[in-house]
Amino acid sequence: MRAADLIAAKRDGHELSREQIRWFVQGFSSGDIADYQVSAWLMAVYFQGMSPRETADLTRAMVESGQHLDLTKVAPFVVDKHSTGGVGDKTTLVVGPLVAAAGVPVGKMSGRGLGFSGGTIDKLESIRGFRTELRVDEFVAGIERVGLVVASQTGDLAPADGRLYALRDVTATIESIPLIASSIMSKKIAAGANAVVLDVKVGRGAFMKGIEEARALATAMRDIGSDVGLKVRAVLTDMDQPLGFAVGNALEVAEAVETLKGNGPEDLLEVSLTLGSHLLVMAGRATTPEEGVDQLKNALAEGKALEKFRQFVLNQGGDPAFIDDLTLLPQAPVHFDVPAQSSGYVTSVDAEALGRASVEIGAGRQVKGAAIDHSVGVTLHKKPGDPVKQGDVLVTIHAANHEAVAAVVAAIEAAFVIGESQPVLPPTILEIVS
Ligand code: URA
Repeated sequence: MRAADLIAAKRDGHELSREQIRWFVQGFSSGDIADYQVSAWLMAVYFQGMSPRETADLTRAMVESGQHLDLTKVAPFVVDKHSTGGVGDKTTLVVGPLVAAAGVPVGKMSGRGLGFSGGTIDKLESIRGFRTELRVDEFVAGIERVGLVVASQTGDLAPADGRLYALRDVTATIESIPLIASSIMSKKIAAGANAVVLDVKVGRGAFMKGIEEARALATAMRDIGSDVGLKVRAVLTDMDQPLGFAVGNALEVAEAVETLKGNGPEDLLEVSLTLGSHLLVMAGRATTPEEGVDQLKNALAEGKALEKFRQFVLNQGGDPAFIDDLTLLPQAPVHFDVPAQSSGYVTSVDAEALGRASVEIGAGRQVKGAAIDHSVGVTLHKKPGDPVKQGDVLVTIHAANHEAVAAVVAAIEAAFVIGESQPVLPPTILEIVS
């Protein structure tokens, strides 16, 4: 087989066989197929799509590129959570400790920022000393010891996805249902969980802009999961505006900690409780999502979720001092307040525009493997529906220097639309696919 033939076949809209897909995945995992050929193939998939059978085969081949964990020796039932990518989405940092504190172990493999969306691994690396690159035995030990572990892709677990993910980030090939579904599900299957809740984001700050596409993605992932005996529920959540107030790695860690202390934004808490409650139901700890929400609220009120987060940070080598003093997280030297140009109500905040601006000032990557600045990002002071007076601060830009502020200030200002009447906002939780 030749890589160029498989690129041409996909470019021309043909279905690839299981053997061809397996050969291609093995080739790029081993480095035998060059980045430029993989990138061309990704673009062909982006335009031509993949059948459900091809998507399942791509997922399977990516799982087979590394180990498939068996966690039954350390815990009878392990759960996992994954988001399809959003702006200000620090949900994992809240759901993980909540669910683990309620007694259900969570083992999760996460990604880095992708396009304009943030990634949990980049956020966690804001924490001094925190290790995201774990060996398989460390991943398993984290589940056993703390009941919560979050790791990046290693050479051991779905490494093929790691390679594709890094290329998709910089080749405009992210927004593809088969590529997102196989990327997420290969990680979930390889990490050995028994049940997964998927947070499928919908709206301007998501890769799926409309509900129909989001449903199609949720269904594709559910079908891949049920093929391999994995319990899957998908929650479609609104991502038209950023989740919470903070966008940017360290800023989001701080907001997650505040949430675990009981001072979090309502939308972040609602998404976290909903996702967590479905995990408790799938794990047999709660009979209904409502009962699950009550258990999670207790874990929060009793400080157990915050304590679990502290244990988790310590277990992965992080210095937990920042939990009691958030100023110990990386701080950007320049803060610039963007004022409202008129009075009225905030009618919308373009999450994608804020995500792109944050990437531009260094919170994400423009080229594969680039270093990022954990301290930079934006903090919203107003959200859709809020009344606003001319001159009120809409958002603070946290940047490394004034040139960075100047490069994004117009785009950030334009992301806020102010109108005369209060808008009717969509619910945060849109739909459950189970
Ligand atoms: N998260 C992933 O792990 N992969 C994607 O493609 C998108 C979000």
